[in-house]
Amino acid sequence: MKLLQHTLASSISLEGIGLHTGLLVRCTLHPAPVDSGRVFVRLDQAGSPPIPARLGSLAPAHLSTLLQHPEGVQGSQVQTVEHLLAALYTLGIDNCRIEVEGPELPILDGSALPFVEAIAQAGILAQDQPVLLGVIQEPVTVWAGESFVSAIPHPVARFTYGIDFANSPIGQQWLSWMASAADFVETLAPARTFTRQQDVEPARQQGLIQGGSLENAIVCTETEWLGPLRYPDEPVRHKLIDLLGDLSLLGCRLQGHIIAYKAGHTLHHRLSQQLLESGSLLIHGV
Ligand SMILES: [Zn+2]
Repeated sequence: MKLLQHTLASSISLEGIGLHTGLLVRCTLHPAPVDSGRVFVRLDQAGSPPIPARLGSLAPAHLSTLLQHPEGVQGSQVQTVEHLLAALYTLGIDNCRIEVEGPELPILDGSALPFVEAIAQAGILAQDQPVLLGVIQEPVTVWAGESFVSAIPHPVARFTYGIDFANSPIGQQWLSWMASAADFVETLAPARTFTRQQDVEPARQQGLIQGGSLENAIVCTETEWLGPLRYPDEPVRHKLIDLLGDLSLLGCRLQGHIIAYKAGHTLHHRLSQQLLESGSLLIHGV
């Protein structure tokens, strides 16, 4: 039996402030034709070309994933796409037109849950073409210092993450997750963006996290969390959301085991690029 592509059954809007810009922004998710992929459109910029959610659209950014038109068309950018993309990828929405009325997606509660709920409300529709499957053929690793991300052949999709923050209530956390849409909603989607209080002011001074607050992130001091957690290991669960959203830029459903340790968006993207450039990822229709 063929594994078919899916899109949304109807359109749905979400509204909120952007984590980094602090701007109020609305985004609307629309159904899209087969083989069109996940594509962003800046509605507030007339004539701005669509931005495919693909590796070729990546632009350099700190603390989030930023996409721009592959030909670098002036102003055509959209930031903090990773939580929505993780929800679309994991729930199997291959084709979706995402209209954004500003430069950044709303951060909402800092997790992927509001996007999951919106997708469920819009409904999911099977289309008449098979998905692309990306099978990892050979091990690939990228690293920077002690941080790394590895991709290893494996019969199913599995994602493992480790983080280690000494002198903080985060500490060491590891989680290995076997991909499943139903389990994403239970296990990962509600995990929120996290930060250490000591990192807040330097990021603000760089012009980042202007919209950050305890409404959309969990923050810790050296000894305690400034508010209740949804899971004792909420940070590592959130790292898995970021990893899934970033890997979705490959434009296929992955089959293999991805293991990340103390990594971030830059290393996630480098692994994806290495997978393509090395020929270790065999992409085919199923
Ligand atoms: Zn995130």
